[in-house]
Amino acid sequence: MFDFTPTEAQQMIADTARQFADRVLAPRAAELDREGGFPRDSLRQAADLGLLGINIPEELGGVEAGAVAYALAVIELAKSCASTTVAITVSNMVAEVVNHFGTEEQRTEHVPKLVAGDYTVGGFALSEAGAGSDPGGMITKAVRTDRGWALNGSKLWITSGTEAGLFIVWARTNEAKGPRGISAFIVPGDIEGLVRGKPEHKMGQCGSPTTPLEFHDVQLPPEALLSEEGKGFRVAMMALDGGRIGISSLALGCGLAATGYAAGYACERTQFGHPIANFQAIQWMLADSATELEAARLLNLRAAYLKQQGKRFTREASIAKLFASEKANTACDRAIQVLGGYGYTKEFPVERNLRDVRVTRIFEGTSEIQRIVISRDIIRRFQKA
Ligand SMILES: Cc1cc2nc3c(=O)[nH]c(=O)nc-3n(C[C@H](O)[C@H](O)[C@H](O)COP(=O)(O)OP(=O)(O)OC[C@H]3O[C@@H](n4cnc5c(N)ncnc54)[C@H](O)[C@@H]3O)c2cc1C
Repeated sequence: MFDFTPTEAQQMIADTARQFADRVLAPRAAELDREGGFPRDSLRQAADLGLLGINIPEELGGVEAGAVAYALAVIELAKSCASTTVAITVSNMVAEVVNHFGTEEQRTEHVPKLVAGDYTVGGFALSEAGAGSDPGGMITKAVRTDRGWALNGSKLWITSGTEAGLFIVWARTNEAKGPRGISAFIVPGDIEGLVRGKPEHKMGQCGSPTTPLEFHDVQLPPEALLSEEGKGFRVAMMALDGGRIGISSLALGCGLAATGYAAGYACERTQFGHPIANFQAIQWMLADSATELEAARLLNLRAAYLKQQGKRFTREASIAKLFASEKANTACDRAIQVLGGYGYTKEFPVERNLRDVRVTRIFEGTSEIQRIVISRDIIRRFQKA
């Protein structure tokens, strides 16, 4: 049913990502983690290579290589630098959302700029202080005016919030209708009334600024509305389905990098007169990580394949994200164990891998929320029967 051999085009994108990650991301990753900031120059180069529009039509400046190539590329990027990779995944997601839900004018106006890096990157502004797992509880409001919409409220945890040149922002346009009263808007980063907050001090992905945003009477034209009024929640859920494939790839990249590093280290490190790779305890840790990550890779590819075929993939994306993020966390933790005390220091990359991968169990829906999505789908099928 599935052919897991990448096509020539898919392999080419993965190879491009690998070479870029080796040449540009890997040498800067430790410093970016230590110093923080934003990998502006790396993202410029990523845009030049087409990595901000992997699954975007050529007519809009994208590479049009599909969801499988995208999943493969993100794994390669994340092996070297999770911080830069998360900015790339969110920007790809924003471009895909505008491409999918936008009018012809919105698509031709914004997608080529997102892909070319003219907006630096795109930002996805859904979460709020009181609305994380439950975005339907958001209180940011957009009210109709004579000239369009007036946007007021605040968002929290916005990836690339200090830098993004374009945001999709979700706001309540009807108080009474719950999730059906939410709409999505395209908001330029330089608009009057948008205030970007300071980056959070995070455990990992320290080169990816995560910030609050405030909207003080931001005046939007009518054409800022993305999709129809009241359909924003559906836009967000569809965007997150695709986004979860990206996060499963991101997690996989971290897990594979840590496991690969640990395997190399185990062959070099000698104790009791033998390389520690000779000890069965070490071999089993590596074997368990390799097995779990391989299973995660297949789930990741299956979800991407279904997306590419235009089939339903909500459940498969949640399964892929849940499994990859949980198993990659375990793999990074095991890698530290293989390195012993050295693994616990910043001299070796595995502690960064573990800090970077931790959030993949939280953002774009926590592991608990993925279980809700998956179990709802199972139960719905039985209820129908
Ligand atoms: C580094 C980082 C980057 C992010 N980037 C973005 C971004 O770019 N854009 C954006 O919009 N958001 C972003 N987020 C927000 C992220 O999506 C939310 O943090 C996440 O959805 C969880 O929401 P919360 O933090 O409010 O936790 P809460 O929703 O308060 O959850 C707290 C705990 O309760 C559990 N829980 C909640 N509801 C249930 C339930 N019904 N059943 C069982 N358990 C439940 C959760 O699983 C979790 O364990 C980012 C977050 C981080 C940390």
